[in-house]
Amino acid sequence: MTKEQASKLINDLRLKLNEWAKEYYVLDNPSVDDAEYDKTIHQLLDLENQFPELITSDSITQKVGGIVSDKFEKHTHKYPMLSLGDIFSWDEFINFNKQVAKVTGTENNEYTAELKIDGLSISLIYKDGVLQKGVTRGDGKVGENVTTNVKTIKSIPLSIPSKDEIEIRGEVFLGKKEFAKINEERLLNGDQLFANPRNAAAGTLRQLDSKIVAERNLDAYLYYYFNENNPINTQFDSINQIKNLGLKINKETKICKTLEEVKLYIEYYTEKRNELDYEIDGIVFKLNDKKLQEEVGYTAKTPKWAIAYKFPAEVKQTKLLDIFPTVGRTGKITYNAKLEPVQIAGTTVSAASLNNAEYIMAKDLRINSIVKVKKAGDIIPEVISAIKDEKFDLLPIWEKDVQCPACNELLEKTSTEVDQFCVNFNCPAQILRSLEHFASRGAANIVGLGGQTIKKLFEEKLITNIADIFKVEEHKENIINFEKFGEKSFENLIASIKESKNNSFEKTLFGLGIRHVGSKTALTLAQIYKNIDNLKNATYEELSSIDSVGEVLAMSIVDWFKIESNLQLINELKSFDVNFEYLGQAKNTESTISEKSFVITGTLSESRDYFKDIIELNNGKVIGSVSKKTDYVLAGENAGSKLTKAEELNVKVINEEEFFAILKGE
Ligand SMILES: [Zn+2]
Repeated sequence: MTKEQASKLINDLRLKLNEWAKEYYVLDNPSVDDAEYDKTIHQLLDLENQFPELITSDSITQKVGGIVSDKFEKHTHKYPMLSLGDIFSWDEFINFNKQVAKVTGTENNEYTAELKIDGLSISLIYKDGVLQKGVTRGDGKVGENVTTNVKTIKSIPLSIPSKDEIEIRGEVFLGKKEFAKINEERLLNGDQLFANPRNAAAGTLRQLDSKIVAERNLDAYLYYYFNENNPINTQFDSINQIKNLGLKINKETKICKTLEEVKLYIEYYTEKRNELDYEIDGIVFKLNDKKLQEEVGYTAKTPKWAIAYKFPAEVKQTKLLDIFPTVGRTGKITYNAKLEPVQIAGTTVSAASLNNAEYIMAKDLRINSIVKVKKAGDIIPEVISAIKDEKFDLLPIWEKDVQCPACNELLEKTSTEVDQFCVNFNCPAQILRSLEHFASRGAANIVGLGGQTIKKLFEEKLITNIADIFKVEEHKENIINFEKFGEKSFENLIASIKESKNNSFEKTLFGLGIRHVGSKTALTLAQIYKNIDNLKNATYEELSSIDSVGEVLAMSIVDWFKIESNLQLINELKSFDVNFEYLGQAKNTESTISEKSFVITGTLSESRDYFKDIIELNNGKVIGSVSKKTDYVLAGENAGSKLTKAEELNVKVINEEEFFAILKGE
């Protein structure tokens, strides 16, 4: 390769990688998987090694990693948060160890082996025994101050039994169950799914609304300890020190005294990773002796005494049995692969989404061909490519559907969109999807009307539109004779339909399925307009001037209210006493501070309204003056007469840390 060719290729790779890095770190929405990203960055590194004169200071290889977003206050790390070099094979580990041996003088080095949790790096700063700050890694030098959110993580203590200034680092993550639960809810709400737990954890920790963070049960494993007053000799002792301070450590961490033990550890967890409650994407090996670490030293961006062994993505071959389209609520066609069942990363995979026709044609996937399948981010099944052998050549080239599989309407596709659409308003598939959507948890939340029940009622023509749901009682005789559907199920169904009439406006609004109106937008609109009549009268100009709405959405809302059948639907729902008024946010009556009264006084780290919101959302109340009936006085610095009064009346006085501890039920 000439220098000129290399220069062009390097530029292309950098552009691509910068875009991917932004998607990954800033938008939490990667378009390529980790393996592809890693492969490309290695390609760039190789080229830069060959042509060192082409390395520029702004090349992505010169940065440690992420990009700092503007939403949170920035924090400069006292010690940079370095990233680790990656390896993908045992041979590469042998090479790494040889480099270490050049300094230590032996190939028998002692390493700690720590599972590499698929989460987000965090740095915790404790001072005077209290958690002062929680900071993300950011670009390694400057991170984001996410303290308020970190405080909601149950496994991170707000105070520790040491007055020293201590920095503790580790990984914030979501367990597999939590991750599945969040994606399930997002699916019901029509929100885009998180590709993997790392993105879900990052998205959660960088939420501006700490209430959402608290709901999501983030967890944290800590592994790094800095304390200038108490230097530690080994990495393993650091971990013990962290444990003694009451923070959570990963119990799978081991010391490997020989290369053989390193190899066994890798083999063991390559097998066992699927059984763990959390996702891991590799193993981190660190030279255990801290003095030796310093002697081995650092490259410009990574320590030379530690390495991340990454698991290869498991790729299996199986037969593509069929490609079939499904119709979404908006008429969008999604193609799906039916696969011969195959075990990948611990579960049986028998289906995968193929997105749209262009996706299939670009990969030239053919029915009955043998395809390579993996799980993107180890979670979502993905067809990578077809094996293009002689047998493949004999298979007919796949052709896209031209008619809707549900109603035979000719499918439409505009030149700007990749997806095909069924535009028939009476398409049965779309109606069924919109009924399912109305009944879903994020919308009307009609528990008794699950997927199978609503399908049956729709097929029997007992429910053909949303309003019919509220007339279902008329068909009692018919319904209780359904297979597996007795009197009891019917009563439950009627009860949950009745209950759904009292939902706050945003739920019903979301359920109506106006195009582009997701659950968040529905809430914003409900908060602003309070009820459906005000929303109906809102003009395009008014709507499009709302920050989170914009022109496309505004147009979609205005258009929806122009359609006569939609207005009829609203009137009909009103006649069944379905609520269309905004009732405010639901309160958590299960909270430890439910029905407790608080007086807030003095200067706190956040505004009084901030604490008032938290208390009220947890069904507590905030009152102006202290009396014998007051449960707690939340006192900040420079608290005055109210504090004195509380002490006189023997009312419990708490500080911010104690407040959060009570809230967590500690
Ligand atoms: Zn159709």
